[in-house]
Amino acid sequence: MEQPTLVIGLDCVPPRLFDFPWAASLINLQALWRGGSAFRARSTVPPITVPAWASMTTGRSPGELGLYGFRDRIPNSYNHRINLAQRCAAPRIWDRLSAQGYRTAAVSVPLTWPVAPREREDEPLLISGLLTPSHRERWCNDDGVAATLSAKCGQFIPDVLAYRDVPLVEVLEQAHALTKQRFAMVRQLLHAQAWDFMMLVDIAPDRVHHAAWRYLDPAHPHFNPDAQEHAQAVAYYHALDREVGRLCDSLPTEWSVRIVSDHGAKARLGAFYINAYLETLGLLTWKETGRADASGDPQAGKGRPTSQTIDFPRTLAWAEGGYYARVYLNLTDRDPKGVIQARDRARYLEEVRAVLLSAPLPTDLPAPWVVRPEEVYPQAQGNPPDLMACFGDLSITPLAGPSPGDALYEPAAQDDADSCVHDWDGLLALPGQPPSSVTPQTANLPVRLLTECLTDLVPEKPLEP
Ligand SMILES: [Zn+2]
Repeated sequence: MEQPTLVIGLDCVPPRLFDFPWAASLINLQALWRGGSAFRARSTVPPITVPAWASMTTGRSPGELGLYGFRDRIPNSYNHRINLAQRCAAPRIWDRLSAQGYRTAAVSVPLTWPVAPREREDEPLLISGLLTPSHRERWCNDDGVAATLSAKCGQFIPDVLAYRDVPLVEVLEQAHALTKQRFAMVRQLLHAQAWDFMMLVDIAPDRVHHAAWRYLDPAHPHFNPDAQEHAQAVAYYHALDREVGRLCDSLPTEWSVRIVSDHGAKARLGAFYINAYLETLGLLTWKETGRADASGDPQAGKGRPTSQTIDFPRTLAWAEGGYYARVYLNLTDRDPKGVIQARDRARYLEEVRAVLLSAPLPTDLPAPWVVRPEEVYPQAQGNPPDLMACFGDLSITPLAGPSPGDALYEPAAQDDADSCVHDWDGLLALPGQPPSSVTPQTANLPVRLLTECLTDLVPEKPLEP
């Protein structure tokens, strides 16, 4: 490594944010974005925090890692569980650099909790972030460092809590506190000892976007720059910009700073009741109690597990919702109450793909996109879905629950708790000229290839097979 490197990860920040009129005053972020080589970074399929950061920091696709979202399916079950650090078997960039003798630290990069105590001082220093249950759990792999950071920067804040359920002012208050603490921790670490590589991810921008995107994105159909919420949300960005500036100012001149994000953000335009649609086609049957549960939460992972709502012995295909749909056939050789024989799998896959492609959605939106995992990944490890589908080019969120009425599509309302979906493009800003392996003309640099751009170090050792 020619220079020590600091990577500042800003979750969910799209490149086009730098063109929003209010963002012109983000002087430190704009300087980093416009002062060197700037790229659109094409997120993973799916463009979701956990697989995207895992892919970026390992150089492997979500299929190779077996990480298809925030949660993944439990084998021999119809339920999904949250992915934790141990699900990422591949070495991450701080591990690989450390193995080459560099001093590395990863601060709140997703998929680092739980952290195991480090055994030697030359191992990477890890601080977890989202999914850390509370400050009482081990959030740093070095107890001495944890004690110092708590003393200097206050009680550890894992994440912005309940950001879809609490008032915007509360989300923003938490986001300010989280960002302030993480940047203070990084300054403290840099002050306390010598490093070659440090990577920080601030999840707060993602939380602010979900709670306040309609007040930030001039292209959002409900955008209103005169609302006081606009000024409040912009104030968060100014605070973030000051923290970035303060951190950069505190760095010795030899340090190189890179800005990166895992995916973008755009307006959520509506919701599609995908399992209700499969029901209308005779492919899915609800349990009586399942049909009654029309809570219709926009995000998968809340509400009742699928196994309690769907009558599987009478179901051929079903889906989990979220930013994209994971669609499963109910197979006799894989699933607890499977009904489709292996010899019929291919036929049903194409049948279900065809019905998803003709989903009854507004015709002014982009058509559905439906792929099999093996069509987008070199391998599909773990428990992949049979089909992956997104609607309205991600602007429509598929919901797994029953429809509260007869409608299969529900347009977004002005007062929805979440006005944002993830978009395909994250960003990468490098100082100076781009490395020789990367051309600025690259329309979309896949995040999987960003590992080498996060440092000047082209890996001396190829990735392990
Ligand atoms: Zn994210």
